[in-house]
Amino acid sequence: MNNVYYGKLVFELSKPGRKGYSLPTNAFPEYALAELPTALRRERPTLLPEVDELTAVRHYTNMSNNNFGVDTGFYPLGSCTMKYNPKVNEEMAALPGFNIHPATPDCTAQGALRLYDEVQKTLAEISGLQRFTLNPYAGAHGELTGLMVIATYHRQRGDVARTKIIVPDSAHGTNPASAAVAGFQIVQVKSTPGGTVDMEDLKPLLGPDVAGMMMTNPNTLGIFETQIPDIARLVHECGGLMYYDGANLNPMLGVCRPGDMGFDVMHINLHKTFSTPHGGGGPGSGPVGVRAGLEHCLPNPQVVYNEEKGRFEQHCEAESLGSVSGFLGNFGIIVRAYAYLLSLGRENVPMAGRLSVLNANYIKECLRSHYKLPIDGLCKHEFVFDGLREEYGGDHHDPAHVTTLDVAKRLLDYGYHAPTIYFPLLFHEALMIEPTETESKQTLDAFIEVMKRIAEEAKADPQLLKTAPHNTPIRRLDDVKAVKEPKFTYKAL
Ligand SMILES: *Cc1c(COP(=O)(O)O)cnc(C)c1O
Repeated sequence: MNNVYYGKLVFELSKPGRKGYSLPTNAFPEYALAELPTALRRERPTLLPEVDELTAVRHYTNMSNNNFGVDTGFYPLGSCTMKYNPKVNEEMAALPGFNIHPATPDCTAQGALRLYDEVQKTLAEISGLQRFTLNPYAGAHGELTGLMVIATYHRQRGDVARTKIIVPDSAHGTNPASAAVAGFQIVQVKSTPGGTVDMEDLKPLLGPDVAGMMMTNPNTLGIFETQIPDIARLVHECGGLMYYDGANLNPMLGVCRPGDMGFDVMHINLHKTFSTPHGGGGPGSGPVGVRAGLEHCLPNPQVVYNEEKGRFEQHCEAESLGSVSGFLGNFGIIVRAYAYLLSLGRENVPMAGRLSVLNANYIKECLRSHYKLPIDGLCKHEFVFDGLREEYGGDHHDPAHVTTLDVAKRLLDYGYHAPTIYFPLLFHEALMIEPTETESKQTLDAFIEVMKRIAEEAKADPQLLKTAPHNTPIRRLDDVKAVKEPKFTYKAL
C-alpha cells in the first residue's frame, strides 16, 4: 500500500498542534467572524491528522495513484462504452468564451448557443430524429425526461388510461427505475434463448393501457435486435410509443439510425458515445431526441434560432413537460462532445461504429476457446461470456468451481480493470466485455493473452484465483460487508 510512510499510515504520523498551512492574520479585526450559533458548533474535535504540508500532499498524491482510470490502463468494463477522453476536448472546454455564467443574456452568448444548437442538430442527424434537448444530466436522467415526454404526449391527447411501460428482462436497471419514477407500472417482456425480445411473449402484453416500450439496441447482451420494425409496428398499432435507450449507440454510429427503425423518443449518453469523461461521479449528459410531432413536449428551456431576429435564443414552450434541469444542462460537457464530433467529422463517424464491433468480435473469437460463450454469432460492441469453460474449472455444478468473480479479481493482479460481472442477470457467471472503438490491436492482444493465462492458472492452481488479488493495495473484500457496513473514516468517531 503506497500511502504508508515508514511503516505508518498518515493518521499515525499526526502530532498535536503541527500545521501544514496557516491562515493569514485577519487585517480587519473589527469585522471578526460572528460567533457561530451553538447548534452549529462541533461537539468533539474532528480527529483529523495534524501533519506538515509535504506529508499531506504525498498522502493525496499516493492515494490518487491507487486509482484506476482510462488514463492509467485498459478498461474492458461492459455496458459502459466510451473509454477515451481526448485531451483536446479539455482545451476546447477551457476556452474563456465557454466559461460563461449560466444567466448570461442570450445576446452576449450567441457563440455558446450556436454550439449548443449544432450539437442538437448533429445528434438529430446521427439518430434520425427531429429534435434534441441537451438539458438532462445523465443517461438515467434522459430516460426519465424521455418517459415524461411520452406521458405528456398521451396526457395532452386526453389518453389517460396508458399506465404501463414494457421493459425487456435484459434491460439496464435504470429503465424500470426511470419508468417507476415517471409514474408508470413496469411490465417485463422475456428474452428468447438467443437473447432478443420474445415476440410471442410481447404480443399479449400490448393493449390500450400501454404507454410505450423501452428497448436498447444492440441490447445489453451486445446483440442486435433485428425485429424492431415489427415490434415498433405492434406497439404503435396499440397506441404506444417506442423509447430507445441509446447507451449502446456506438456500434450503430453512421450505420443505422433509431429514428429509421421506428423509435419515437431516445437518449444518448455523451459520456458513453461522444468521449466526455465517465465515472467518478463526474458531470454526465443525457441528451433526449424526439420524432417530428413531439418537439413541443421537450423540456424548457429549448435553444432555437429566431429567423426574424437572426439570432439564437432560449425559448420556453407552453406545452412543454416543464423543466428538468437548471439552465441548459452541463454545458462544459457539451463543448467536449462538440470537439469530439468535429474531430471525427461526418466521414469518420461510421468508422467509430464499425471499429467498436470489430474489436469486440476479435476478443470474443480469441477467447471462446477458454471461456463459455452462451450466445454464438456476431456480437456488436460488447458480448457476454458465462464464466470459464468446464475444462478450465468453470463447471457451475461443481461447488468448488472457479467463478467469474475469481477471474475478475485475478485480472486486477495483471493491472487490468475487471470487466462487468454478474450483469446482465440472464447467465449464472456473466462476464461482460466491451473494448470500444478506441483501443489499439496491441492493447487488445495483451488483454487476450492475460485472459488466457488466467484460464490456464484456473486449471493448474484454482486456489491462486480464489485468493486473488495478490498485488493490489487492498486484497479481496467481503462484498456484502463492504456494502452493509462501509467504513468511510479511519477512526469511527
Ligand atoms: C449506462 C446505461 C444507462 C444509464 O446511463 P447513466 O448515464 O449511467 O445514467 C442506461 N441504459 C444502459 C443500457 C446503460 O448502459
